[in-house]
Amino acid sequence: MPSENLFSDGLYPKAIMTRHTLTVLGSTGSIGVSTLDVVARHPEKFKIFALAGHTQTVKLAEQCAAFCPEYAVVADAVHAAELERLLAAKNCQTEVLYGAQALIDIASADAVDGVMCAVVGAAGLPSALAAAQKGKTIYLANKETLVVSGALFMETAAANGARVLPVDSEHNAVFQVLPQGFQRGRLNDYGIDSIVLTASGGPFLDTDLASFDGITPAQAVKHPNWSMGRKISVDSATMMNKGLELIEAHWLFGCPPERLETVIHPQSVIHSMVRYRDGSVLAQMGNPDMRTPIAYCLGLPERIESGVCALDFGKLSALTFREPDFNRFPCLKLAYDAMHAGGSAPCVLNAANEEAVAAFLDGKIRYTDIARVVAHCLEQGFSDGLNDVESLLILDKETREAARQRIAKAV
Ligand code: NDP
Ligand code: MG
Repeated sequence: MPSENLFSDGLYPKAIMTRHTLTVLGSTGSIGVSTLDVVARHPEKFKIFALAGHTQTVKLAEQCAAFCPEYAVVADAVHAAELERLLAAKNCQTEVLYGAQALIDIASADAVDGVMCAVVGAAGLPSALAAAQKGKTIYLANKETLVVSGALFMETAAANGARVLPVDSEHNAVFQVLPQGFQRGRLNDYGIDSIVLTASGGPFLDTDLASFDGITPAQAVKHPNWSMGRKISVDSATMMNKGLELIEAHWLFGCPPERLETVIHPQSVIHSMVRYRDGSVLAQMGNPDMRTPIAYCLGLPERIESGVCALDFGKLSALTFREPDFNRFPCLKLAYDAMHAGGSAPCVLNAANEEAVAAFLDGKIRYTDIARVVAHCLEQGFSDGLNDVESLLILDKETREAARQRIAKAV
């Protein structure tokens, strides 16, 4: 396991002296909107260079009118024409670009200091990698980047002096309670026994297993504690999200799989923990609102205002914990297996899961078929040691095809 410093110039980068210029990828999504909410609270600290949505042109036009970026990116020419019309009506000068290359361009432009990577799914990988190649500060929400290409991404970031700051709440919590100066992979040197990721258990933690076949998309996206995009909400219900996060933690912190734990904590107040050799367990707590980890990353080394309410201990009835049950959450077991298998297994796991979740949300398969589709794709086998983006994207594409064939049979 490499032992380079996780954050190229130490855990706490220098204070932001000048206005930090940002690109927000996925600005129209849940994380994107929370990011802009935090940015709007600190106009003296941040300036938006570019925003990227995909299909939500009305929302993106409103964001452009509010933040006046130089560029806005959408999926294709049709959405670009629509956005141009909306911007003209607002008298907004933002230049409109479209397509995957435009995402890469606004993530790697010289004028940009930091990039919020908040596209959903493996579609976020090329732009995140481009930011790493250009040594940007990367605010990483898109966990799929690390699941698909963890070794490649972390190596690229280290080689180019890019700082990778974890936005995902669990990893952000771990980041906050790691010792200052922590170097990736050197758990023993810092007296760390293990990293413990907490999980809410999602909306079906106590649902009768016999009724799982009938779970609807509307039920699955209704998370008890967090407000998130549809894909990650389904992943939280199946606990695939925690599986993806274990793999994410493995790469971010250089933590061996056997030193990663997960525990269900239904209140989502403790966002994750680090166990130390002396018996101490350090946890980070707060209300479940992504503006806290976003503000922590954007503000480093300062603590900046995020708009999140103070945690009210008087209203907390209990903090409870329990072990995850693989019968209830087979996707978590599949993710554990893929993490232990290593190589390109996590890339296969992710592609199969993205296709299965999309098919479930489209009403094409049952909730319980999600794990079946993923297991089927993992059984097809996977190659070892793929560590270039082209090969990983080919494997991603092939796996999606295998998943779609399995999905067609499930109907
Ligand atoms: P959303 O679905 O809410 O938003 C996704 C964003 O990505 C939207 O801006 C969407 O554009 C854009 N997008 C979708 N497909 C593409 C594509 N093919 N190319 C470019 N852009 C695309 O997702 P979330 O904000 O919930 O999640 C974003 C990422 O952050 C995910 O990786 C998730 O796992 C991670 N994350 C999210 C958390 C949360 O609380 N939401 C917590 C921790 C991590 P449009 O809507 O305009 O079509
Ligand atoms: Mg998370």
